[in-house]
Amino acid sequence: MQTENRYSRQLRRYAFALRLIQHNARTQTILAWSGLSTYRVRTLYRADGPDQGDPGRRRPRGRPPYQLQFFWRSAKRADEAAVLGGIARLLNVIPEHPVQKGSEVARSLQQGERVCVAYELWHAFIPDSEISIDHAFLLVTALARGDEVRLGHCLDCKALILVDCLRPAGQMCESCETCKRRHSLAHKAPEAKKHYP
Ligand SMILES: [Zn+2]
Repeated sequence: MQTENRYSRQLRRYAFALRLIQHNARTQTILAWSGLSTYRVRTLYRADGPDQGDPGRRRPRGRPPYQLQFFWRSAKRADEAAVLGGIARLLNVIPEHPVQKGSEVARSLQQGERVCVAYELWHAFIPDSEISIDHAFLLVTALARGDEVRLGHCLDCKALILVDCLRPAGQMCESCETCKRRHSLAHKAPEAKKHYP
């Protein structure tokens, strides 16, 4: 019985690794989350053919992304990341309260599969994003830890946003930030004219 369980678990690891290959995940991501050996993952690549993921995207090489700043490099990306985080939260992939040892929780086969489900749902709505499956693992792990990034709401319009925990409280979405900047500039302009006619 135990042998049977081990066998089915190994099959599950293979199925999960194949799923990650289809999403163009980096090799290191597949190794870390599937628990398979390098040899077995390479065998899967060979069996599946080279670069068998999404034909529109080549499988990226090298180290998986590790900088959360990636998500704030554009307003579009931050919005898309917030949606991904929201889906992961709804599916309970991210716990309601941060976990102290997020990496241990995150590196299970079950958690990996759940991140994959959240990513697939999100990807169905936002297929052309720059956020890859590798980024999804980075984001969900960080959100589960909750010490650098968390989900929150815009101070003004209450939209779901990705909150940088290292920045001051009361953050706003990009749209409200832009409105605020314009409003502030409009009020500064007459002042400037007074000093420089
Ligand atoms: Zn807003």
